[in-house]
Amino acid sequence: MLTTAMTGSGSGIGAGIRQQLESDGHRVIGVDLKNAEIEADLSGPEGRERAIEEILAACDGRLDRLVTCAGLPGSAKPRSRVTSVNYFGAVELLDGLLPALERGEQPAAVSIVSNSAQIAPLDEHPLVAALLDHDETLASRIADEHDVGPIAYMGSKHALGRAIRRRVRKWGDARVRLNGVCPGPIRTPLLEADMSDPMTRHAIESIDIPIGRWGEPADIAKLVAFLLGPDAGWIHGSLFYIDGGNDAEIRPDRF
Ligand code: NAD
Repeated sequence: MLTTAMTGSGSGIGAGIRQQLESDGHRVIGVDLKNAEIEADLSGPEGRERAIEEILAACDGRLDRLVTCAGLPGSAKPRSRVTSVNYFGAVELLDGLLPALERGEQPAAVSIVSNSAQIAPLDEHPLVAALLDHDETLASRIADEHDVGPIAYMGSKHALGRAIRRRVRKWGDARVRLNGVCPGPIRTPLLEADMSDPMTRHAIESIDIPIGRWGEPADIAKLVAFLLGPDAGWIHGSLFYIDGGNDAEIRPDRF
């Protein structure tokens, strides 16, 4: 039986991924604020270190799959909590669990990013630079002092996508595949939170998905399950948009 650790297992997309993986026969070690095998707060280094230690104890140091899915919406405050959970909560678990994944069977990891990661021109944004420098103090200061609003969310996801791509050689040498999945809008508590925020509500309400419907957690879960499986054995360092055509319509001439 494959052993899979995942964050954000208790709600929304993560709960859908958990259900899919369990029906595929995985033993899932969930990490979440509550209702999970490991209850940990990924917004700070202590919670992240404890989550890694408890995962390692639960899997005897040998992990087959990892999914990082925990995240906060752009409307959450303080903004630094958004960047800490969405970026450091993903990257530190990826890095901390790589040695255990190296000992796994056909090991692979998937991080849940977002199709908003490339919507704004964030390549040179100081918040993204601080995140990629792994400077949580500076990133938190930029996020809070400038009250960057939705940039905290989009910037954390933009940096996460780049962090995945930057790890392609190290993870490839370790024979552990790492990919990112970039969902469009899915009705979950995270999206509901943004719907009740005046700053983000209008942008969400105006979304018109080309394929004619919004997504469901199960849509994302099926792609994640495929990317974690043996049929995806040559897929590594890739970011997959899964959004009913939303990103392609917004940025038709970039990919
Ligand atoms: P959700 O709110 O349903 O689930 C998020 C989960 O993360 C929850 O279980 C929550 O408890 C957990 N979490 C939040 N803060 C945490 C912390 N400090 N420590 C540990 N766990 C914490 O939201 P969702 O929509 O299912 O989001 C899952 C992922 O998908 C997120 O990374 C989100 O950014 C991404 N995403 C969502 C959408 C969407 O439209 N819903 C679109 C693109 C990307």
